[in-house]
Amino acid sequence: MGIIVSEMPTSTVVQVADLSTGLVTDFSATLGHALVEQQAQLLDGTLEARSSQNAQEDSLDLFPSLPKDQLAVVTPIIGPKLNLKLLTIPVIRPRPGEVTVKIEWTGICGSDVMFSLGPQPGFPSEFHIGGHEGIGRVVASHDPSFVGLPVAARYLCNTCRACHHCREGVPESCSKQENFARTLAGTFQEYVTAPWDSFMPVPDWVLGESDIVSPHLYTAALCSGAAALKAVKNAAVRPGDVVVVLGVAGGIGHLTGLLAKSAMHAKVIGVDMASKRDILDHGACDIFVPIADSGPGSPKDWDAFQREIADAVQWLRPRGSAVRKADSVIVTASTETAFGNLCDYVCDGGSIVCVGVPKTGGEIRLFIPDVVVKQIKIRGSLMGDWEETYEVMDHIRAGTIKPVTQVVTLDEVPDAMAKMYEDDHTGKLVVRVGGDVHGKRQP
Ligand SMILES: [Zn+2]
Ligand SMILES: [Zn+2]
Repeated sequence: MGIIVSEMPTSTVVQVADLSTGLVTDFSATLGHALVEQQAQLLDGTLEARSSQNAQEDSLDLFPSLPKDQLAVVTPIIGPKLNLKLLTIPVIRPRPGEVTVKIEWTGICGSDVMFSLGPQPGFPSEFHIGGHEGIGRVVASHDPSFVGLPVAARYLCNTCRACHHCREGVPESCSKQENFARTLAGTFQEYVTAPWDSFMPVPDWVLGESDIVSPHLYTAALCSGAAALKAVKNAAVRPGDVVVVLGVAGGIGHLTGLLAKSAMHAKVIGVDMASKRDILDHGACDIFVPIADSGPGSPKDWDAFQREIADAVQWLRPRGSAVRKADSVIVTASTETAFGNLCDYVCDGGSIVCVGVPKTGGEIRLFIPDVVVKQIKIRGSLMGDWEETYEVMDHIRAGTIKPVTQVVTLDEVPDAMAKMYEDDHTGKLVVRVGGDVHGKRQP
């Protein structure tokens, strides 16, 4: 196998030639600069694959304080099964306009599981590095004014701002978007090198040594929390409302429950597997209604389930209210058609908001006459933006909400992802990248 790396005015071109077959694969089209270089180096097994410019930079080493190598969780070849490996890979030196960020913490999102399986359109099929909920500080840059700044790496890091989707308020659909874990190598590595403007600046207290909140909690704001807040906003939740959160124990789900309850002062009925009832103790809901752990039960079970929801709604309504349906249902996880017509759970004029995509796809059932007569509002809700991220960070810092987290180290990511694939976790999984799980920093 041989590697050809050449410099173009705006990009790096990497072609991998299999010398036994003469087959040449071009990785350039879909990959970002940093990821392309890492792939080239990994494929070649040495640092020789660097471009001539980078080789020259190496010999000068403009960034001698940056280590040469780092640990990363990599999927060498994307396939239908999770195949995550802890590997030692080179630390990429930043070019002008780029910065290198030392990642301190990163979340594991449900999407990371999906992104690590494939092939997925627009994602690299080899040497994929996931992770899009990272926080850290800039440690290397050609512009010294960036060094030391705290930043976050989110999934959606750049859009064109000019296309139809960008101008219609759905930049998440922009065809020219840049993403960590897709076009740029993700945050399951110790050092991420990417263009400065692909990172989100965060307040200094996010990584403040003396701050009252452990910084790892803020990773929950970057993707899951922002998505949860956007969903709650899209459901137009008001104080006193009754909100049903389907999948309340998950990453997005428990934050949706916490935000609806503690930030919006709604009453929350959380639904999830019986084994995840503990989420009730963390304040993500007022009443927990379990579903069977082993998937949908018989239709009779679902009739009973529906009555349980109605009883819970009545319990949470002010006394004397005859309305036994919720103001909104927020779907954060797998929804089986066995739940029946979701309009049965929502009162007239209420909302059904879907946020978060289950790995099996999932579907909901709606009875059209109910949607029309009851004037149900149905809304899809994807991610959240910088503003929602900052708002969730404010809620975390103020103590309005406390994300439920389980902290693992970088080498534990493959196992943690496997558990997530099996739905065997509660709350938010957070990875300590630059130290031990108690937050102690590396020297
Ligand atoms: Zn995510
Ligand atoms: Zn656009």
